[in-house]
Amino acid sequence: MSIKIPRGTQDILPGTVEKWQYIEEVAKDICRNFQYKEIRTPIFEHAELFTRGVGDTTDIVQKEMYTFKDRGDRDLSLRPEGTAAVVRSFVENKMFGHANQPVKLFYSGPMFRYERPQAGRYRQFVQFGVEALGSEDPAIDAEVISLAMSLYQAVGLKKLKLIVNSLGDNESRVAHREALIAHFKPRIEEFCTDCQTRLEKNPLRILDCKKDRNHELMATAPSILDYLNEESRSYFEKVQSYLSLMDVEFVVDPTLVRGLDYYNHTAFEIMSDAEGFGAITTLCGGGRYNGLVEEIGGPSTPGIGFALSIERLLAAVDAEEVELPVESKVDCYVVALGDQAKDYSVKIVSDLRKAGLSAERDYLDRKLKAQFKAADRVQARYVAVLGEEELSSGTINLKDMESGEQESIKISKLVEAIQER
Ligand code: ATP
Ligand code: MG
Repeated sequence: MSIKIPRGTQDILPGTVEKWQYIEEVAKDICRNFQYKEIRTPIFEHAELFTRGVGDTTDIVQKEMYTFKDRGDRDLSLRPEGTAAVVRSFVENKMFGHANQPVKLFYSGPMFRYERPQAGRYRQFVQFGVEALGSEDPAIDAEVISLAMSLYQAVGLKKLKLIVNSLGDNESRVAHREALIAHFKPRIEEFCTDCQTRLEKNPLRILDCKKDRNHELMATAPSILDYLNEESRSYFEKVQSYLSLMDVEFVVDPTLVRGLDYYNHTAFEIMSDAEGFGAITTLCGGGRYNGLVEEIGGPSTPGIGFALSIERLLAAVDAEEVELPVESKVDCYVVALGDQAKDYSVKIVSDLRKAGLSAERDYLDRKLKAQFKAADRVQARYVAVLGEEELSSGTINLKDMESGEQESIKISKLVEAIQER
């Protein structure tokens, strides 16, 4: 029996990979504009990094990690997300001491979660994310949010919905926590076992439960916005006013609770409104995590970031029927007839490529007509035809495939001729 691809993973083949490359390019361009620098961390880390950094009451840590022992008996995990690793690296490389503050980083790479595969949900998926560490200016929260929106807009998406919330600072969260416990405790046995453990450990996460989302106590649960202290409230108002200044449209949703334990103040999600996008509409999630750097063993440092997956971005691109500019045209296809011309076409193709042009030729000993068909298939802009006669006179026949015009030129002038047009 032949071996198949593992469940929840996918091959990205030529024809589709160009879309990925395009999006990765757009993301890099935007990060350059916003001055975020790339960081690359390992695909696996000590499992403990995630139990501490993501939080041991999260679905990710409790149910979704690929954790294994290596031959040295270490507990390692394939990374399920990027933030914890970026923060580990920030601490390990003492980036908190760098002159340039805040430290603004982006990453892009595969993440691994043992999930039930479905549309938009994979076991290996590619996340692009940014982290800004070392500033607690609400302007940086707004910057990070607008960076995410810029990426979707640059790709051509229009049906986007940005929702923002504040989870407040520690003081606000403690007050809210008490209110949540008082609210859910009397009827907690009507909730799933996960929620029962969450009640004492992290009652905020009950609001994020997928099983109990329709329970009547959910709708009436105390809103965090009613528990924000003065400082948290004014922080949140600043973030909103900066978003407005940048013409970033948003709605405040007090029920937005992010899945990770270390969030405070700003939390946000970007959803797709596109018809036919399917059940999973969240494209991007992020927020502020002022406690995380300390949790990972560094000096108390504020941080904010987001993560999005390219898979869901592309699903939104499909749902909105956006055409990405991903032509992979060949500049010149060299058609050769006769053994000598075929031999010499090796040099011609090579010279074109050295000059930075994309060039292709026949490798299957095709007849003239079939070579032209092959040139069509790869959408060649020009076809250069070389027969024995041309070869002996040092010329080549250059055909413009758009206008149909043909011209006999010197072989030595071919590169120039194509570059000029
Ligand atoms: P969800 O509620 O959909 O499970 P999450 O809260 O687990 O999302 P995050 O951990 O915040 O998501 O990850 C950020 C983004 O990464 C998500 O908004 C989504 O775009 C993407 N993402 C998360 N899990 C997957 C997955 N299994 N496959 C593809 N993309 C994913
Ligand atoms: Mg999830």
